[in-house]
This record gives sequence, C-alpha cells and structure tokens, in this order.
Amino acid sequence: MRTFPIFVSFAGKPPLVVGGGELAAVKARLLLKGAATVDVAASHVVPELAALAEAGHVSLLAARPGIDRLRGRPLVIAATGDDEEDARVSAIARALGVPVNVPDRPELCSFVLPAIVDRGEVTIAIGTSGAAPVLAQRLRAWLERELHPRLDALAKLAAEFRAPVAEKVPSGSPRRRFWEAVFEGAAAEAALEGDEDKARALIGAAIKQATDAAPASGRVLLVGAGPGDPELLTMKAVRALKAADVILYDRLVGEGVLDHARREAELIPVGKAKGLHSVPQAEINALLIERARAGQTVVRLKGGDPFIFGRGGEELDALREAGLTIEIVPGVTAGIAAAASLQIPLTHRDVSHTVTFLSGHEAGGEEPSFEHLDLAALAGGKNTLLLYMGVTTAGLIAKKLLEAGFRPELPVIAVENASRENERRVAATIAELAAHPERLGLKSPAVLIFGEVAGLPAHGVIEDILALPELARVYA
Ligand code: SAH
Repeated sequence: MRTFPIFVSFAGKPPLVVGGGELAAVKARLLLKGAATVDVAASHVVPELAALAEAGHVSLLAARPGIDRLRGRPLVIAATGDDEEDARVSAIARALGVPVNVPDRPELCSFVLPAIVDRGEVTIAIGTSGAAPVLAQRLRAWLERELHPRLDALAKLAAEFRAPVAEKVPSGSPRRRFWEAVFEGAAAEAALEGDEDKARALIGAAIKQATDAAPASGRVLLVGAGPGDPELLTMKAVRALKAADVILYDRLVGEGVLDHARREAELIPVGKAKGLHSVPQAEINALLIERARAGQTVVRLKGGDPFIFGRGGEELDALREAGLTIEIVPGVTAGIAAAASLQIPLTHRDVSHTVTFLSGHEAGGEEPSFEHLDLAALAGGKNTLLLYMGVTTAGLIAKKLLEAGFRPELPVIAVENASRENERRVAATIAELAAHPERLGLKSPAVLIFGEVAGLPAHGVIEDILALPELARVYA
C-alpha cells in the first residue's frame, strides 16, 4: 500500500479503539501521545485499560460499535482479535470515510501507523509503506540516538516567540532567515543545554536587532547543479536550494536535483534547448534583479558549473551592476563528470599535460570557426580537448583538427547524458568522426573527449562508431 504521511488533529471527537485486550491497550496508549482521551469499545478490558479509564484518559463504550459510534471519528483502530469483528468495523469505517487501521491486516486498513520518534512538540513519523518495518525500527533507533533529547524545549521556546516574531519581523524570507539564525545559533544551543533564560534573552535581542536593521535586501546565488545525478550536487548547492525563495533553473538541470528545493520555493524554468524558444538572457537578468531587490533569496541554478559555458559571467556582470549580494556555488561540469564515469583521467603524466574546454557553438548560433584557437599549437602537445555543445558540429571540428595537424587515429569518446541513467558513450577516431559524424547518432546533451586519454582503458560499455549499430565494443 503506497501511503502519504500527515499529522492528524485530535481536537474534535476522540479516536476510537475497538477491543479490550493487550493489543488494544498498546494502541490506546500510543494514541494517548496525541489525544487527550481515547474511546475504547469492548465488553471486557485488561487491567491497563481499566486503570486508564479510572484515571479519565479512556472512556469505555459498549462492544460491537455501530455506524453512529464510528461516524465523525478522526480515526479508528480495530484490535479485537476477532477477525470477523475487525473486518466488520473496517467495512463500516471505510464506508463512512473514517480512517481505519487493523493491526497486521493491511487489506483492512486505510492508514498505517508509522514508527514514531517522540520529542514532545517534535514528532518524526517513519514509514516504509509496509515494505520493511524492521528498517523503520532501525531508522527510529538511529534518530533516537542522533536527536537531542531536549529538542522539545527548543520547539516550545520557538512556540513562545512565534507571535512576537510574527509581529516584528516581516513575513516571508526575512522571517525564515530569522528563525534559521535562531536554530543555528547560540539561542538554540542555550535552550538545548537547558539554559532557557539565556535562550530567551538571546532571541529577544535578535528580535530587536531584526527590527532595528534596515530592510533586508535579497541575494542571488549562481549555483552549479552538476551534470544531472543529484549525488553530484555539492553540500553548498543543497543548502542553497533549501534556502531559496525562488529558483530559476535551466533545462539541463537533472530531475532529482529540484527535489532538494524547499517545498514552498517558486520554481521558474528558463531553459534553453538549442534552437527552441527560451527566456532571453536580458529577461533572466531582469528577473534575478527584481526578485533579489524584493528581498528574496534567489537561486540561479545551472547545469554543470555556472562558469563553464553557462553564461554565468554575463549574469554576474548584471548582478554586480545592480549592486546585489552575490554568491557563486561551483558545480561538477559535464566534461569532468564524463571522464569520471569512463574512469579515464583528463590529465596523465605520459599523454596529457593540459585540458582545453571548447565550445562547438558560437554566440549568435553561427557555425564555429575556431579562429580564436591555435589548433596547430594544440596538435603538437600532449593535450586533451573537452568539447561542449558540439552535437551538430562535431564532424566539422574533427575536420579542423585534422587540418591543424592532429593525427587521424587520435581517439575520441562522446558521452551523452553523462552521470544520468540514460548515459551513452561512443568511441571513434577523429578521422572517422570527420568522415561520418552522423554515425555517432549523438543526441544533446553530449560532451566529446579528444586526445590520447580517450584511448586509455575505460570502464563500462562503449559503442564503436565502426560497428554501430550492429555491435558494441566492451572494455574492462
Ligand atoms: N555549465 C555546463 C555547460 C553548459 S553548456 C557544464 O558545466 O557542464 C551545455 C552543454 O553542456 C551541452 O551542450 C553539453 O555539451 C554539456 N552537458 C551538460 N550536461 C551534460 C551531460 N549530463 N552529459 C553530457 N554533456 C552535458
């Protein structure tokens, strides 16, 4: 059963447990963590339930409850130990739309109970959709160890200051930043150490400071999202995504990457697919500036590294001119990710002493001439070329390299979708590439690695331009 976690309020009618045995007692005790009272419908109850009833925590009702007893309940647990009775209760509850759980009978349940880490105001519910209850228990044990035992005190203190902070600190990003500073700073430490007076004084001072300060202006973070695999995000990038009010992201940003964004963040695609319409650069710049001036934390999320063929430089200029606070978070660029995946080094003491990052695409969308590059000089040295944006121009570049004196057998490997599940690699020589560029069957995004390193033993499946599409050459 696929499930979705929520926290249920017991402010209205109490929850109902049907059954009076040990199992029912366990469930009633669990519900009392969140409910002031629990109703128990049973003809006989074990001593624990009797004691809870005596103490006013449990109200005892007649066994075999009907529709009227179940209607309007926040939830019902049927734990009579009698399969037929549990099924009857489950059927009524489901017909009424009342959430129902029957322990160990998933087919009779409309909700499941999570493993719970309980720190008073702070509750963590762990679920595995029934797949691995033991894993849930292990996670719970781990969280129990990791989480400060006085987390509850911290949450209570925050509750105490909620109203004054709401009154004095503007809502949205200033207020969120205020609380982030509290939870990361000395006030939280003091509360966790049990010095609540000190914590109160510190929070009071922080409120005063926030009120006195000039209205906060926002900031822009140019963040590298890496080549696609979310595991290749830096910790700083993840932190930036969690802090962002708004994220402007490129088409090349991997799917799992945005899962790290703060849930309330506004996500704006400004992607550029070659030849397709996208938001013009001037508009992106204007949007970044406008949002930051409105006090927002703005993340400009770019594939790979923001300063490798990412037009990060142009955005930086515009942001500097606007006088904004800027932060750059580097990312793993596609060429580096491709080399890592192939397990071939880009520099190598025997065959490659320099790496050149090349674009196969000129500003303005014209065919690249490569006049700005001294290809003849590169041909003489031990060098690796990393070609970006070269899917449509790879053949032309190979020709230019041959003309410049590169040896025709020089190996090339193209890597499509580096680091993603659909990564694909094709090997060729520059002569083959110059003669039959279409045979690579390359699709964007792809990087090409030219140089002796591309002939070193590589990891994984590599298709061979000569054998395509019939055969695949497999290394290592
Ligand atoms: N800033 C990016 C590059 C942007 S230019 C970076 O540092 O990676 C866009 C080009 O990047 C694409 O045309 C392609 O050549 C390359 N690219 C981006 N992601 C890629 C990926 N996952 N696999 C292969 N190439 C990729």
